[in-house]
Amino acid sequence: MFLGHYAVGLAAKKFAPRASLGVLIAAPILLDLLWPIFLLLGWESVAIETSNNPFLRLRFDSYPISHGLLAAISWATLFASIYFGLARYLAGAIAIWVGVVSHWLLDYVVHRPDLPLSAGSDRVFGLGLWNRKWPTIAVELLIFVLGVWIYWRQTRARDKIGSYGFWAFIVFLLAAYAGVAFGPAPPSVKKVALVTLSTGLMVLWAWWFDRHREPIEPPTTVSGSSTQSAT
Ligand SMILES: [Zn+2]
Repeated sequence: MFLGHYAVGLAAKKFAPRASLGVLIAAPILLDLLWPIFLLLGWESVAIETSNNPFLRLRFDSYPISHGLLAAISWATLFASIYFGLARYLAGAIAIWVGVVSHWLLDYVVHRPDLPLSAGSDRVFGLGLWNRKWPTIAVELLIFVLGVWIYWRQTRARDKIGSYGFWAFIVFLLAAYAGVAFGPAPPSVKKVALVTLSTGLMVLWAWWFDRHREPIEPPTTVSGSSTQSAT
């Protein structure tokens, strides 16, 4: 899954409005930022397969340190603890913890059975939505639109960076996803690792434009017709 992870980060802004979108997005994509590092170190492995289905071109042979459920929970706890230690913002820490763990759950929906519980465990999990190309794209887009909508309703641009920076970010993600869904197969595992690692820049991008946006205050009207829910 790709867009769905970003959607979780965007939507988390409603739950933790004072947390930077940078960390809120870093959380749900964390496992995919660790995975290329472990690939390059040779601790985890993936193989490229030829397939007409763009989502079945990677065979995830082993990735318990980045994508084991136990590992996901551990990374979530570590990240949330560090954040809470620094920021002292409980809602942000909770959003981070849920965000990291949500990665495994969303991957579980799309991956073929290849997600482990932990290193040394033989059981693997995955509902395999990726076997069906168009339903996969539909589900990703649906979740993404929902996440974008929640973030957009929750915040308002303070300046041009807050507005254009945000929309360019959304368009870039859609284009990147189109590249995966309709582009050529990856040439090498190393290339896959480096491209995946470079998505870490999206964290900086999100942090940047989010600083140029502000929470929309819930309307405190005398008529009491509050349409925005307070958080
Ligand atoms: Zn993943």
